[in-house]
Amino acid sequence: MRKPVIAGNWKMYKTPQESLAFLEAFLPLVADHTRDEIFLFPSITSLSSALQAVAGTNVHAGAQTMHWLNEGAFTGETSPTMLTAIGCGHVLLGHSEQRLYFGETYERVNLKFKAAVAHGITPVVCIGEQLSEREAGRTEETLRLQVNTLLRNVTRAEAKHLILAYEPIWAIGTGRTATPDVAQQAHQIVRDELAACCGAELAGTTRILYGGSVKPDNISTLMAEPDIDGALVGGASLDPHSFARLVKYA
Ligand code: 13P
Repeated sequence: MRKPVIAGNWKMYKTPQESLAFLEAFLPLVADHTRDEIFLFPSITSLSSALQAVAGTNVHAGAQTMHWLNEGAFTGETSPTMLTAIGCGHVLLGHSEQRLYFGETYERVNLKFKAAVAHGITPVVCIGEQLSEREAGRTEETLRLQVNTLLRNVTRAEAKHLILAYEPIWAIGTGRTATPDVAQQAHQIVRDELAACCGAELAGTTRILYGGSVKPDNISTLMAEPDIDGALVGGASLDPHSFARLVKYA
């Protein structure tokens, strides 16, 4: 009932030419794949041509962040209407690299989430604790606060468009994947907080992806956990063959 999502986050990698070369190799490898939804988040300069390349395929391309307003004096930002104008229907929000290096907050992610839904853009919202929070025994408190802030003043009708990605910051780019057990525990807490905020029905249908050093050889044990509904993949999404193997995990 929760269709899995395998998403690749390309971060600040790949020129438009490199993005197109990836897609040329990748799209045929996954063309017959229907079990999972497949998302890719290229950089903003590659997004337009990536959207054209994936049109009519089973792969969706989205932006890595966006502003919540339609226009204004906000140098460097991209608005929801700018995204929909190029046919973009997906956006990544609240990634930990935005939170750690560029001051992103869940108060703003909340505004961005509402704006995305209002424009028919599917938001994939990242949450996850830092190593210091985990070591201090504050993982549960951190995750509950993140979900709670994200969903402040969000209606159930809005919340049903949410896709969450649990990415423990200590597992990102470190090769240190959360064990399936540790990830499952966190996903259960997140689903419980979703139920508290929006009701059990919505908690039961919301997809929660795991992210942090997901590779072709560890995806299947993660996906075997009952509350893990997909993966948000960084490094292993940069190579078309490796990412296709990961998408087609057995
Ligand atoms: P890695 O898969 O490289 O650890 O990155 C995870 C991530 O941040 C995806 O958004």
